[in-house]
Amino acid sequence: MQSKGGLALKRLFALTAALALLLTGCQSQPAVPTETPSADSHRDAAFLAMDTVMSFTVYGPVAEEALAAVTERVNGLEQLLSVTREDSQVWQLNHAEGRSIDADDDLISILAAAQNLGYSTGGALDVTLYPVVRAWGFTTGEYQIPGDEVISNLLEKVDYRAVSVREGQVSLPEGMEVDFGAVAKGYAGEVCADLLRERGVTSAILRLSGNIQTVGAKPDGSPWRVGIQNPNGQANDNVGILEVIDQAAVTSGGYQRFFEQDGVRYWHIIDPATGAPARGGLTSVTIVADSGTLCDGLSTALFVMGREKGLDYWREHRNFECILMDEEQNIWVTAGLADAFTLVDGSGYTLRIVEE
Ligand code: AMP
Ligand code: MG
Repeated sequence: MQSKGGLALKRLFALTAALALLLTGCQSQPAVPTETPSADSHRDAAFLAMDTVMSFTVYGPVAEEALAAVTERVNGLEQLLSVTREDSQVWQLNHAEGRSIDADDDLISILAAAQNLGYSTGGALDVTLYPVVRAWGFTTGEYQIPGDEVISNLLEKVDYRAVSVREGQVSLPEGMEVDFGAVAKGYAGEVCADLLRERGVTSAILRLSGNIQTVGAKPDGSPWRVGIQNPNGQANDNVGILEVIDQAAVTSGGYQRFFEQDGVRYWHIIDPATGAPARGGLTSVTIVADSGTLCDGLSTALFVMGREKGLDYWREHRNFECILMDEEQNIWVTAGLADAFTLVDGSGYTLRIVEE
């Protein structure tokens, strides 16, 4: 990154040039900007979308226009994919009673990606789980533990394979409902990163709640540093630091949304096999890959699968790297992240590198 002194010097030069023009009386010359956009000038935006706080930082000469474009893109996606807004296509799909609806490319893409991940994870990710998520109260915050019969009835209508995705049209069997809580932020980060790259941005970091999407490296060429949160601690209590360049890093954890009843904690990541909060022994899963959609889908799916199945999935696919934290205070880091991850001193966690 350019030093503060360097930037101040640049500003001084611009100011001196402008003054010189004024003093020599060259009024007909075009105005000289007092500050020329430089590679490390940046723009920030913080806003609410998709039920969470988003905070974007874009660097470089086109930062302002590029930031406006991605903010608008996220708002457009929220309008399309919201499960609660009655004007969204997802709402329309969920209330179509089995009929097909005309769908925008984004809805087709996200549904197709989610369905593919459903197949590849053996149903650990299932976007048709929505009625079950709602029964637990995770959609409204009015938490409750549904009875076994309620859950088993609802699970009869859960099946990612039954979603029909065709050119320009999608449909669900009657009684089924989808929601993209598990993939939408990753998808949004990914499409925004692509949009920034198309506009010539070479350095940006987009924070969409627990989803981090980066474009390039920091303006000085060094990697972005992403904190990996202690599942038992506060938001700024990190057990490790992960370095990322031009990729997405997405974390799912039971600590992100939960309620407690009779001393038991119930979190928002549900195992589609049981209809109850996933208890695979993990407390947090971080996925690093080029595709934010893949990261988001897999962070949820591997949390459901647990360590052994999750690492088998990694061995089989190798199109991502991951960090898994378990209830025994181990932190499992796959080989591709061994150099990028640093454990914070005194974290209380044991680092275990997974080679193969
Ligand atoms: P994430 O924070 O990305 O792990 O996504 C969790 C959100 O996705 C929850 O708040 C639910 O709305 C939804 N969800 C929970 N469990 C699953 C699952 N197994 N498959 C798909 N979506 C899920
Ligand atoms: Mg997810």
